[in-house]
Amino acid sequence: MRKLKVIMTDAFKPSYLQYAPYLQSLTKKFQWGELDMGLGHWRGVDILFTGSSNKIAIFYKNKNSLFYLKYFTWLKYFGKIGRLIVDILFNIPRLIKGYELIRTGNIPLDRLYTFDASVKKHPGKKVSRFYYFGELDGVGHKYGTKNEKIIKAIKKIDKKISKIDFDLIFSDHGMIDIEKTISVPITKNCFIDSDMARYWGNKDELEKIREKLPLEHGRFIEWNNKYGDLIFLANPGVLFSPNFWNEKPVKAMHGYNGKHKDLKALYILKKYGGKKDLTSEELHELLNSYKKQKSF
Ligand SMILES: [Zn+2]
Repeated sequence: MRKLKVIMTDAFKPSYLQYAPYLQSLTKKFQWGELDMGLGHWRGVDILFTGSSNKIAIFYKNKNSLFYLKYFTWLKYFGKIGRLIVDILFNIPRLIKGYELIRTGNIPLDRLYTFDASVKKHPGKKVSRFYYFGELDGVGHKYGTKNEKIIKAIKKIDKKISKIDFDLIFSDHGMIDIEKTISVPITKNCFIDSDMARYWGNKDELEKIREKLPLEHGRFIEWNNKYGDLIFLANPGVLFSPNFWNEKPVKAMHGYNGKHKDLKALYILKKYGGKKDLTSEELHELLNSYKKQKSF
């Protein structure tokens, strides 16, 4: 039985196709479209391969599995080297378990141990032959989506992909240029993502935080409390900074609600057809029927 061949191009926006002659030629014959990957980070990829997911962020509160890192909080006094050691300590157990490796970014070391990582094994790598191209994500964050470095990276990736056989090519999200950077309250019990400010606490504490959050730049969302008792989601193009990921504000970001035109991802399925925009749930269903048709 052969495995599904999947190519993931991180942060490839449908509008990037204009710089990707090979991918563009595929859209002339195969089914393709914009992909609504839904709310948050990672969840869309999970849904695509497993059918459902509640993971809207990489860090949450669950089983206190990172408690061992409490004994290394003193590494905060050692700058970049301290952070590198923490990243190694954090990732060794993950490496052994075959989980995705994650950088701990700017997460305060005296809080990191109170969280858990929701992201484990990559769901795509479990079920398919998986090829990954990550360059556009880093370049996009650093330089924005209209920089010439983006165009160069797209052309390079397009060439590489043209040499690989595939069943599905997809991106996990788009990318939107940051228009406004705002700061949100940082409390003792919170996680500040780039696009989501998440707080835990009692009613009074949460009420006070709620009053300080700018409703013109985002909205509150209801989700599983493991991700926050109070969750404030930024409007597309708004960046929370300082945050727990980057020391300096980035130029572009993804996540948000996934609905904005710039946040849409891309898919191309090796099946004759035209343009059809889908949600991650719909693409999951389509992949299931595709597998049956091609009798994997
Ligand atoms: Zn990214």
